[in-house]
Amino acid sequence: MTVRGTTSQGKERRVAGGPAPVIVPHGPLSAQLRESAPVALTDLQAEQLARYRDLLLGWNERVNLTAITDPVAVEQVLFLDALRMAPAITEALEHRHGRALQAIDIGTGAGFPGLPLAIVFPNVSFTLLDATNKKVAFLGEVARDLGLTNVTPLHGRAEEIGQDAAYRERFDLAMARAVSSLPALAELALPLLREGGRAFFPKSAEIEAELNEGQRAANVLGGRIASARIVPAGTDEKVTRLVIVDKIAATPNRFPRRAGLPAREPLGRDSGI
Ligand code: SAH
Repeated sequence: MTVRGTTSQGKERRVAGGPAPVIVPHGPLSAQLRESAPVALTDLQAEQLARYRDLLLGWNERVNLTAITDPVAVEQVLFLDALRMAPAITEALEHRHGRALQAIDIGTGAGFPGLPLAIVFPNVSFTLLDATNKKVAFLGEVARDLGLTNVTPLHGRAEEIGQDAAYRERFDLAMARAVSSLPALAELALPLLREGGRAFFPKSAEIEAELNEGQRAANVLGGRIASARIVPAGTDEKVTRLVIVDKIAATPNRFPRRAGLPAREPLGRDSGI
């Protein structure tokens, strides 16, 4: 499904036949978020984020999109977590002059981290992938409402689209938040990346064992963990780690395995795979 070229209807549309959601405006994006985000937001981007916040909260009353129901928490948890990835993405873009880049957010849910990043990086095309159709429908509505032409919601499982020639090895950037362990994420993301592409996985700070397993899995899949740095550095806010995996060689055709296996029988354990 592409949202490119759709026209604004000016009305909230119905979700899966249900009543139209009520969208309550919660005011402009907070100054606190604009100050704590590690990227300068234009007025348009701040307006788009505020509208996205309101759409998310409104739709969440009808469709189960997120456990977060408070406008401040949408900004401080969901938006800030996504925007904290922006410097690493800017760094990746610096090495790629001239070509339009393709990014994929795997298991994006209600659009995290991909949609805030699509707002901040209008020159990067974002495919927002999720296995749940109602979430994908919501993302189409947000993209249309906000006038985002660089967002393509996609319904499917990463295991299947990773074996689909239309998507396999087509992306420069991949990301996933709160979807699975590193070995499973490596198996879902690396087949979708071109050689030279880069994956970003925000994680909690204490992930020693997971990092070791993730590295072993990445070895099998043509990847290498390039870094796992703490973001943000030097503050007392919630500490997270951004794991960056580089695609350094082609992924063997047998990966990703069939739906469910990457999470159930992760590579990189002592299973001999
Ligand atoms: N990334 C979002 C959502 C996390 S919840 C956030 O940070 O808020 C996990 C989401 O991943 C769910 O919406 C689920 O449908 C999706 N998902 C899990 N496994 C998937 C797979 N193999 N392929 C595509 N989507 C998947």
